[in-house]
Amino acid sequence: MKTACDLSKAIYGDVINVDYSIAILPWGAIEPHNYHLPYATDCILSQRISMDAAHLAAQSGINAMVLPPVTFGSQNPGQRELPFCIHGRYSTQFAILTDIVSSLHYQGIKKLLIVNGHGGNSFKNMIRDLAVDYPDFMLASCEWFKITNFEHLIENVGEHADEVETSVMMYYHPELVQLSKAGDGQSQSPRLKPLAEGVIWMPRNWSEISIDTGIGNPHMSSAQKGEDIVLPIINKLSQIMVDMANHK
Ligand SMILES: [Zn+2]
Repeated sequence: MKTACDLSKAIYGDVINVDYSIAILPWGAIEPHNYHLPYATDCILSQRISMDAAHLAAQSGINAMVLPPVTFGSQNPGQRELPFCIHGRYSTQFAILTDIVSSLHYQGIKKLLIVNGHGGNSFKNMIRDLAVDYPDFMLASCEWFKITNFEHLIENVGEHADEVETSVMMYYHPELVQLSKAGDGQSQSPRLKPLAEGVIWMPRNWSEISIDTGIGNPHMSSAQKGEDIVLPIINKLSQIMVDMANHK
């Protein structure tokens, strides 16, 4: 009988005699999500999705440990000025990830999957550096909202505190969603033409492109939509865990 463990709740006795073949690291942010979702939305959703996928993976024969979520997300100008929006800079995030990899490696746990819940986070260069320093450690990342294609399930495509995030939160935690207070999540294209065209990249100034901090109208959200969106994601994520765990 294999097991999925939630390290946020586990006690030492739960863990000590189990051989974990993979650790999962949910990674979020602390930031406003329009007027209707909690600051910790990206942490909560990546953690819940990781746990559900880990339970499924246990049924497929692997022990998966889900670590507590990392709360430090990378923020944009115009966003980090907002009260209690916390900007986790690259060097902070890299130090956190390095310490986690170093600890797990020392303990003989050599596979880690980051399940990212915040669009501003990017781990590629960190993972490249750690692949140099820990060549026998398998470190990968994914973003839960990019694992499957669910555009056919939603009315209003968005990006932040949108119909997708709101629906998935309504599925997991309806008590944390105050949809009647939500703004329309209207957004404007950046004024700089090549940025709007997507041929250059720089962080967008959030206060210039969104009034309520949201991008995407959340008003058509529902718990049913959240379930329809998230169940295929959980299925695929559990398969990713199994594939990584079994990879020699
Ligand atoms: Zn979010």
